[in-house]
Amino acid sequence: MAHDHHDHDYDHEHGSELSETQIRVRALESILTEKGYVDPAALDLLIETYEKKVGPHNGARVIAKAWSDPDFRRRLLQDATPAIATVGYAGRQGEHIVALENTPQTHHMVVCTLCSCYPWPVLGLPPVWYKSAPYRAKAVIDPRGVLKDFGVELPAETEIRVWDSTAEIRYLVVPQRPAGTEGWSEERLATLVTRDSMIGTGLPKSPGEVA
Ligand code: FE
Repeated sequence: MAHDHHDHDYDHEHGSELSETQIRVRALESILTEKGYVDPAALDLLIETYEKKVGPHNGARVIAKAWSDPDFRRRLLQDATPAIATVGYAGRQGEHIVALENTPQTHHMVVCTLCSCYPWPVLGLPPVWYKSAPYRAKAVIDPRGVLKDFGVELPAETEIRVWDSTAEIRYLVVPQRPAGTEGWSEERLATLVTRDSMIGTGLPKSPGEVA
């Protein structure tokens, strides 16, 4: 009896370490490696790239540059993909990026109603909520309600425009530059740019939040 109990505890602890998905991914990786379809070193490199090198900090640099450099801003809004490439970011899932500029009159919010299309080179991999069915449905039906869920309240006169990402077009929101940041360097401005502010479900930080 005591032994059974111990086994149960062991299984329980073990189960909480790895999720069902993680176990499946691990099993798939072993089989693919065994059959010679994937090179584990290449896989590690790919994962490391998206964990450490590609992420919202890339997009933050793009936004900070758009806030500081009127010529870059113009190029970004005209044709984002080549403009973003000049900052050094290009690649898969970013072949056709469109930049949407927030103004006091218009706030843009991005969703992929079909799945989870997202501009990887500038934002990295999408957060879990972005892929969730409730977000995908509610963003279209009640964008103001979604913003409220994220703790954002916009003036009633601000129009909210929702953009549906596709495999062809990925969107990057250019949030409004926070007040009180006159004379800030691009590097410092980038610290204000949050991932959610580039999806349109959030706003940039205020200077007081990073001081
Ligand atoms: Fe999608």
